[in-house]
Amino acid sequence: MYSQMQLTSDTGRNHPAAQNPATLAALLILVIAASWVGLRYTAGFDHIAPLWSTNGLLLAFLLLNPVRRWPGFLAIGFTGFLLSHLITRSALADNFCLSLCDLAEVTLAAWLLTRSGKKITDLTHSPQLLRFALYGVLIGPAAGALLATLILRRPHAVPWRNAFLWLFLPDALGIAAVAPAVLALFGEEPLRLFASGRRRKTLLLLSLLILVSITAFSTGGFFLSFLIFPPLVLVVLELGWAGGVIGIPFIAFAASLMTLHRYRVGPLPYPPLLQRLLVLQAFLAAIIVSVNVVSLVFHERRRHTDLTRENERRFRMLAENARDVIVLTDLDGRRLYVSPAVTPILGWAPRDLVGGSFHTDVIHPDDRPAFQQTLDEVRKFDRGQIIIYRCRKKGGMYVWMEASLSLYRDSLTDEPIGFVKVARDVSRRKAAEEELQNAYETLEAMAIVDALTGVANRRRFDDALDHEWRRAVRSGTSLALLLIDVDHFKSYNDIYGHVRGDACLREIAAAALEVVRRSADIVARFGGEEFAVILPDTEETSAAALGEEIREAVMRREIEHGGNQPGIVTVSIGCTAVVPPRGSKAVTLVEFADEALYQAKHEGRNRVKTRRHSLPSAGHPEETA
Ligand code: GH3
Ligand code: MG
Ligand code: MG
Repeated sequence: MYSQMQLTSDTGRNHPAAQNPATLAALLILVIAASWVGLRYTAGFDHIAPLWSTNGLLLAFLLLNPVRRWPGFLAIGFTGFLLSHLITRSALADNFCLSLCDLAEVTLAAWLLTRSGKKITDLTHSPQLLRFALYGVLIGPAAGALLATLILRRPHAVPWRNAFLWLFLPDALGIAAVAPAVLALFGEEPLRLFASGRRRKTLLLLSLLILVSITAFSTGGFFLSFLIFPPLVLVVLELGWAGGVIGIPFIAFAASLMTLHRYRVGPLPYPPLLQRLLVLQAFLAAIIVSVNVVSLVFHERRRHTDLTRENERRFRMLAENARDVIVLTDLDGRRLYVSPAVTPILGWAPRDLVGGSFHTDVIHPDDRPAFQQTLDEVRKFDRGQIIIYRCRKKGGMYVWMEASLSLYRDSLTDEPIGFVKVARDVSRRKAAEEELQNAYETLEAMAIVDALTGVANRRRFDDALDHEWRRAVRSGTSLALLLIDVDHFKSYNDIYGHVRGDACLREIAAAALEVVRRSADIVARFGGEEFAVILPDTEETSAAALGEEIREAVMRREIEHGGNQPGIVTVSIGCTAVVPPRGSKAVTLVEFADEALYQAKHEGRNRVKTRRHSLPSAGHPEETA
């Protein structure tokens, strides 16, 4: 992965750019050499150099070190300047002043670039590159050139503007060409460029660049200078910013030296020097701008690609390690991606499902319409939805799945381009739910059934009677009730025991159920050894007949009962039927039936008695038969 070049201005002691005798000596030699080249290869009226590289060198060292070390570097710089002047025997007084101006320029640029603690750490980021261009290449050299112009300008020699430009342009170009190269060389990038795997390629590309530079300028002068661009772009694209900025000084020196040399030895007539120098400077500026712009775009792209790749890697990791199945489909439901969690859940490999669509494959045919409808709703309301559906396993069995469905959008246009489905196996939960439902139904049934006899219990009786009563009020039909009581049952228990007593009660319930056949009729255990039969839409005579049938059915069972006169178990039954008027209460019916039952007991048991009445207004008893 790409990592930033760290060009720190707080270089540690062991850093090659730190202030130790070896570095200082090396810097001194470099300053002398650069100044010598600059002074030697100058021409014309005021010894104009096309490019003054010493300031760039010095500026880079200042940027690589904390402010407290700057005086040492500046002293070395000044010494180097003066020594080079001595060597080239140029006018010392002027050059003393020029050197001071250079130091001021470099210090100002370095101060502007590092003030407010903001460090120049990476020129492949546009804000830093712009700051470097503004303070390092424009303001610093402009201030230095202005100072020098004011001090050194000889009246009538050259116009102000020209004097300023001749001092400014070489300094600006020198800093733009050399400082980044030095920063790059002390950064981490050269370690990468010259690592064993890439060393050959780096050397080959840089050699190609130097070779083309020399060839272009030695054979055709400026006419072949455009040949530099293809290898230069190649170097930037292959070696990055560091490769490009390290290459620039080579091109700059080759172009400057060849141009000035040609001027000296070239045949006349030859284009005027100033014109040639300006063209050379424009060419160098073009090279520098090209390298920086291309590398800026290149590194921004690379960072973007790295980020995208990293994000993709993270999301893939999330998707592939999630226990839920993650599916991406297009808007038609065609699968584009299926996460590997599908295999443990459904047995399919992701590739079995990618390309397919829920319309055609694993979703249960009965669930497809609902699935489609959910997708439509997700799209219409742009809101996530949850759906439970059956999905076919590889073996053919179906499992219950729960999926959350939502839209996903194009990152550029923000238009919906498909669905994200996150699905999990809920068959266990579904089974548990079913079990719970069954248990609930059983419980509910238990709550309305009498445990001993299996007929409706008292609660169910009360509910049903109330319900039927109100219905009869509405429809104006007759509602009948039978109350059945076992004769001398206490003594049955006494003689045969409670267990047989219970069995006897079950027999009675069965006998009643055997007689009562209509689905609306309800046989219930009213309490103890008493049963009730609710007969909706039944007249008194029919109800009494039914009661008679029940009485006979009990007798037919011939359950031995020594304590009862016939020797077998018998029942007494109270019967009543009412067309209930509005505002009357269901309990009235029970009271009437109870009265009839009492009558039956009173008259000798083992019989059915009917309680006659009229209820239209007050429900006064009329007659008892
Ligand atoms: P009668 O002919 O006047 O109805 O006489 P009876 O003995 O049946 O009347 P009583 O109401 O005095 O007695 C009812 C008896 O029914 C009392 C009780 O022991 C018995 N009994 C009530 N519920 C149950 C039950 O769930 N199981 C059993 N084995 N006996 C019950
Ligand atoms: Mg009783
Ligand atoms: Mg009884």
